[in-house]
Parts: sequence; structure tokens; C-alpha cells
Amino acid sequence: MYDVLILGAGASGLMCAAELSTCKGIKVGVIDANANVGAKIKISGGGKCNITNTQVSEKNYLGDESFVASVLSRFTKEDLLGFLHANGLKPVIRKNRYYFCQISSDEIISIFRRLTKNTKYHLGETLLDVSQNIECFTVKTSRAEYRAKNLVIATGGVSYKTLNATDIGIQIAKQFGHEVTEFTPALVGLTLQKDQFWMKELSGISAEVEIEVEGKKLREEMLFAHRGISGPAILSASLYWKKGNMFINFLPDHDINILIKNSKKNISSVLNLSKRLSKALLEALHVEDKPCNKLTREELQNLQVIQKYPFAPAGNFGFTKAEVSRGGVKTEGLHGKSMMSKKVDGLYFIGEVTNVTGELGGYNFQWAFSSGVVCAREIKSRYNC
Ligand SMILES: Cc1cc2nc3c(=O)[nH]c(=O)nc-3n(C[C@H](O)[C@H](O)[C@H](O)COP(=O)(O)OP(=O)(O)OC[C@H]3O[C@@H](n4cnc5c(N)ncnc54)[C@H](O)[C@@H]3O)c2cc1C
Repeated sequence: MYDVLILGAGASGLMCAAELSTCKGIKVGVIDANANVGAKIKISGGGKCNITNTQVSEKNYLGDESFVASVLSRFTKEDLLGFLHANGLKPVIRKNRYYFCQISSDEIISIFRRLTKNTKYHLGETLLDVSQNIECFTVKTSRAEYRAKNLVIATGGVSYKTLNATDIGIQIAKQFGHEVTEFTPALVGLTLQKDQFWMKELSGISAEVEIEVEGKKLREEMLFAHRGISGPAILSASLYWKKGNMFINFLPDHDINILIKNSKKNISSVLNLSKRLSKALLEALHVEDKPCNKLTREELQNLQVIQKYPFAPAGNFGFTKAEVSRGGVKTEGLHGKSMMSKKVDGLYFIGEVTNVTGELGGYNFQWAFSSGVVCAREIKSRYNC
């Protein structure tokens, strides 16, 4: 019989196991369908894992803000960096905001391996069924049956099914009477409606933009892709977009009216954009590329749209390309101090399986790690540890 059985050896499950490992008296097991631990960590951030961000707040997440704030405050970005430093990992900061491993994601995976050397891993086992009687939880896998006093669901979302991602976590939650929001793809590229097909011509080009979506302003690069639009700004916008238009500002550092004022140069050369993008934008806005001082009133009006281009996606690139799944176990059913179920004592949900999803930029690992630690500390306190 395990004291704690963690379902899922991803970011949140590993952090939970690492924190529990500081208490020698607790017998911990971890089950995962993958042959190796931390499969998503391994491929994340282009193989270098964007661990966290210089600015982390509940505002960077889709979810119940006070719940998110409660969890993040208990294991902050500073706590995470302290943990990494103490274990010999000195992350590098990219673009002044993203913390990455220096060489590869293996740096962080190997920390978890080392810290959990006394944890019993059951890898290559698919979870089939969970049940509970007055004594314990019973977990059936494709190979065996395990019993545990505490059960931590850390099975993540459903994006990247090739890495054995499944929705077993929300199935278990439902079984125990929890409310869930079904998963939908997020941090994902967006496909185009007919009026935006002009963007297809720009495949491969990127530009720094500011996107306004559902009251949020997101500043990062967008990338024109063959199937639609992508890049960090679009991926984060996909998290918040519900319906209607989002607005793209293609000149976030400038005022279009000041750029063109009294200029005799052609518009395409005063816009601070790549030639291909400015030409395509002008065409899409029905503005002839001519000297700025020769613009008609209507063209001047159309030009304003460069700073507030309305965009409503046709759809998205789907779960195969989505970095995360939006939705999951509703946090209303969990305690913000412990991640424990309000319905079932000893049952916990951590990481992406909860309906908390972060923007692009290390926020999802921060959530996985913070919720993993919060859960482990609660269990430790129950063992007077
Ligand atoms: C390509 C890609 C790049 C990403 N890059 C970043 C990044 O740089 N920064 C960032 O913050 N976030 C990134 N993310 C998101 C991040 O990886 C996840 O949010 C995070 O891993 C969630 O942690 P988790 O522990 O909740 O779930 P996961 O890490 O997904 O772990 C869940 C585990 O449960 C196991 N599991 C699920 N179902 C079953 C089952 N039925 N039987 C047995 N085992 C099962 C899975 O095998 C998996 O190992 C990226 C995601 C992807 C797909």
C-alpha cells in the first residue's frame, strides 16, 4: 500500500514527488504510460524548457484568479528559481522575460530523477480505472493493481496524444462527482477566414505585434504560417479568445498618423514593417502604395486599421499542435491551499488537468510546479512532516 500514488510523471507529478521525497516516512509511487518521465518537459521550449517567466501573476492565466493567486503565492517564481539553483540549475533569461534551461530540458528532468530516486516508478503502464473503498484508493493499470491512501491526479491535458496524453484525469474527476470543463486546444495557431487569406502569402514572415483580446493586451511576435497565423502572440491570444474579433496592432511602437505626417515617401517605406508585410497589408486595406501626402481621405481612414486590425479566426490547428488544453477540473471543487478535492478526502488534482491555463512563456510549468508543491506540502503536513 502506498501512502501516496501520483498518476502522471509529468511536470506537476514530478515536482509533487520531489517535494514528498523530503519526507522519508512517506511511501510514494508514480504511474505513467510513457517509458520515461517528463516527456513534455523534454520537448518543451524547443528542447530547452521555458521553465518560468520574470513576471508571473494570476493575470497571466485563464482560470479563477483568486484560486490561481493563492496557489502561486505558496510556491512563487522566486521559490522555483531558488529550488533550481539549489539543485545546480542556473536558467538563462531570453528576451528579457523567459527562463530557459541553458543546454537542454534534461537539466531539469535529471533534477527530478535525482530527487525522487527513492520513489517507485511504474512506467509504461496505462491507467485504466480508479476506485475507492473506506480503506484506500485502488488504481488499475494495463499491468497491475495498486492501492494508496492518497491519490494525486497529475495526468495533464490531451494535447500531443503521441506522448500518451489522455483525458483520464477528467474522467476520474467526474467519477468522484467533480464538475469539469471539457478540454479544448489552446496555445495553438489559428486558421483564417476568407478575408484574411492574404496572410497566407506571407508564410514564414514574423512581426512584433500587440494583440487585444477579451480585455487583455499581449505583446509578442506573430508568425504567418502556411495554414494560418501562429507565433507567441497568437498562441497566447488563442488562450483567451472566445468569439468575435481580436485586434492586431501591427505598429505597437508607433502612431501611424505621426509616421505618415508630412512625408513625401511612399507609405510602404515609412511603415516600420518588412516590405512584404507592408505591401500585403496595404493591399488588404485597399490603400494604394503612394507618397503619404497623396493619400485620399478614405485611404487615410483605412490605414488606421493597421493599428487595430480586426481578426476572427475560422478555427485552430487542433490538439496535435496545441501546447496545452484549456479546461479541466473546475477549481471551485478544490481547496486553494492544498489542491485537495472538496468532495473526497485524500484526492488531489494538480497541473494542467485543472481548469487553469497559462499564457505562453513558462506559465504552464510554473502552474504545474506550484500546484505540485502545494499538494505535496499538504500531504506532508498530514504525516507531520
Ligand atoms: C510541444 C510543447 C511545448 C511546451 N512548452 C512549454 C514551455 O516551454 N513552457 C511551459 O510552461 N509549458 C510548455 N508546455 C506546456 C507544458 O508542457 C504542460 O502544461 C505541462 O507539462 C503540464 O504538466 P502536467 O504535469 O499537468 O502534465 P504533463 O506534463 O502532460 O504530464 C501528464 C502525464 O500523465 C501521463 N498520462 C496521461 N494519461 C495517462 C494514462 N491514461 N495512463 C498513464 N499515464 C497517463 C502522461 O503520459 C504524462 O506523462 C508545452 C507543451 C507542449 C505540448
